[in-house]
Amino acid sequence: MAQNLRFRNPELAHSIAEKIKTVAPKKGQVKICHVCGTHEWTITHYGLRSLLPENVEVIAGPGCPVCIVPAAEIDEAVQLAQKGIVMTCFGDVLRVPGSQSSLLEAKAAGAEVRIVYAVSDAVEMAKREPEKEFVFSAVGFETTAPITAVEALGDLPKNFSFLVSHRLIPPAMELLLGVGDLQIDGFIAPGHVSAIIGLKPYELFTRVYRMPTVVAGFEPNDVLMSIYMILKQVSESDAVLENEYSRVVKPEGNVKALEMMKRAFTVTAGNWRGIGRLPDSALQLRESLARYDARLKYGVHVEQGKDILLGCECHLVIIGKIKPKECPMFMKACTPAKPVGACMVSSEGTCRVWAKNVAVQG
Ligand code: SF4
Repeated sequence: MAQNLRFRNPELAHSIAEKIKTVAPKKGQVKICHVCGTHEWTITHYGLRSLLPENVEVIAGPGCPVCIVPAAEIDEAVQLAQKGIVMTCFGDVLRVPGSQSSLLEAKAAGAEVRIVYAVSDAVEMAKREPEKEFVFSAVGFETTAPITAVEALGDLPKNFSFLVSHRLIPPAMELLLGVGDLQIDGFIAPGHVSAIIGLKPYELFTRVYRMPTVVAGFEPNDVLMSIYMILKQVSESDAVLENEYSRVVKPEGNVKALEMMKRAFTVTAGNWRGIGRLPDSALQLRESLARYDARLKYGVHVEQGKDILLGCECHLVIIGKIKPKECPMFMKACTPAKPVGACMVSSEGTCRVWAKNVAVQG
């Protein structure tokens, strides 16, 4: 409670905003990028952009783990469900568009698709119904991958396997630095991912790219403080890695979670919706756990899916090149009730966050 008061304290927010004004450059644009759906929610919900000088822009990168699952991997899930396998997934995966169909549409057509709140729920279902085959759609960044790892290394029933779509955040951040016209001046790194991976994976950004990088928590004043810290570095032509979220993030990360991930997964190249193939950005189950890999177990593999539908600008929203309201479909053909693109589906998707906070965005 005391923490909430401190990190949601409007007086403190205004005093940080004043400090931001003093360090922000008086001329030229500064573009700060975050890669986290929860950061985008905090920024839009609390109207933090309205506290910033006009020449300081905060853009949202690929921070929604559901939005970046490529259509091909949704197609694989749909194929599994159409084979009579019980597909289990988190609620926000249900409506992510595949090339032809989402899991929700497959369910409406008769396939068995069940929403679960935890992987362990799906495992329990498989134990209770041994006559059926169960697959869990394992979507998420480094925050959720350890949970998949723990289950995969545990005592799983024979009728259970994973369709793994886990992705890693640092390679996506590095990609953004190669998008010439984005011209990012600093990164806000996601606090929850950092609680797992620690600080080391971000050293590359300061050392090689000279990019100010600040790990931030999720309360409004965490985000404002991280913006201040980045602007201070920009004003001093500095590029260091700082940890605003030190009350949660340790430099070494969560050693136990990292160890479990290492035992369960190997790192491989992966496709990202709206981005394409990124080296060393995806996780796959190790050979020793291949019996729990649904792609191998049931022989499903879709190489290429149709990621972007005609008129949808998700590929530009995902990398922060445009704002949701610059997509012609935003709140017209594409709404939270009837999403067209993946960014409108999940509560972490930038378009959905903006849709839910339209009044704040103006
Ligand atoms: S408004 Fe809809 S179609 Fe447009 S970018 Fe966002 S999710 Fe995609």
